[in-house]
Amino acid sequence: MQHAARLNALTVGLDAPLLVSRLSNLRYLIGFTGTNGYLLARPDGTCVFFTDGRYAEKAEELVAGLPAASLLISGTDMWEGMGELLNDLDRVALESHGVTWDFAETLREKTGTEPVPTRGLVEELRRAKDEEEVGCLRRAAAAGDAAFGALAGLLEQASTEADLAWGLIGVMRDGGADVADWDPIVAAGPAASLPHYEAADQPLGQGLLLLDYGCTVGGYHSDMSRTVWLEGEPDDEMERVYRAVAESQQAGIAAVGPGIACGDVDEAVRQVLRGYGYEEQFVHGTGHGVGLEIHEAPFLRRGSEEALQVGDVVTVEPGVYLPAVGGVRIEDMVLVGADGSEVLTASPREFVLR
Ligand code: ZN
Repeated sequence: MQHAARLNALTVGLDAPLLVSRLSNLRYLIGFTGTNGYLLARPDGTCVFFTDGRYAEKAEELVAGLPAASLLISGTDMWEGMGELLNDLDRVALESHGVTWDFAETLREKTGTEPVPTRGLVEELRRAKDEEEVGCLRRAAAAGDAAFGALAGLLEQASTEADLAWGLIGVMRDGGADVADWDPIVAAGPAASLPHYEAADQPLGQGLLLLDYGCTVGGYHSDMSRTVWLEGEPDDEMERVYRAVAESQQAGIAAVGPGIACGDVDEAVRQVLRGYGYEEQFVHGTGHGVGLEIHEAPFLRRGSEEALQVGDVVTVEPGVYLPAVGGVRIEDMVLVGADGSEVLTASPREFVLR
């Protein structure tokens, strides 16, 4: 029944019919996991799900479980079906961050209904994760931790960054997770200075190794980063960078709590890095929400007055990058609870891998 409750939470807040088209939102609202569908949600609480024949059987099942929803299956001309769906409407709200300009223009042309932009209506509801969602996030985080726990063994098998990336994926899959829709970042040596480096056929070497990866469980993502020094005495400079990032990350995690502005968490992280003289080398935001999407609301960025809420799951991931030398990022997932926050990822945070 959680889908009915979610639909209800959406429709009570609407002042015009909304055509939900973002797939992550359709998954959240009605459990649809296909690649083509539209949900017309009306302020009176009723909904129509519109999809094509490939999904008819599954869609019937989903809609049957929803008291105020009906189903419309498109024929070969999708716009004809859309016209039927929007039949009596002068205006319809679209998810402006999820449709193309072309879609909005064609909708106006073919259906005579005026599209109106809205932003983030369903995403706002998605922020408060319920128990079942937190369960999925926990299992996804645990699979990521299992992969990190297997690192020493994986390194024995892997000779390149790309090998290790596959190794991490393999452990997460064995732990019951699905492969995420993004590839692990495995960056050895100076490549670690590139925040979104892609694993390549580069040898792993002996020194710095930055990992940023995740998986999904029930559609819910995990996201974590660790940076380790593989063998021998770590470089002095990188050790100092590591200390700065580790301290700033702890300050960020400690700052997370209900009612706290996202910008204040960012500032807590930044303050520590500033003290070390590395603020300029911190070139991205402090963190992001994580759920059905790997990056979702809220965003922990500089100056954001958006307040954290109970049920938000956010990453805290400061990084310092010294071009051509190397970089350090440490990232954990944090659940905002009514009485304190909980770090969902549990991997150790020592610099030197033992
Ligand atoms: Zn992240």
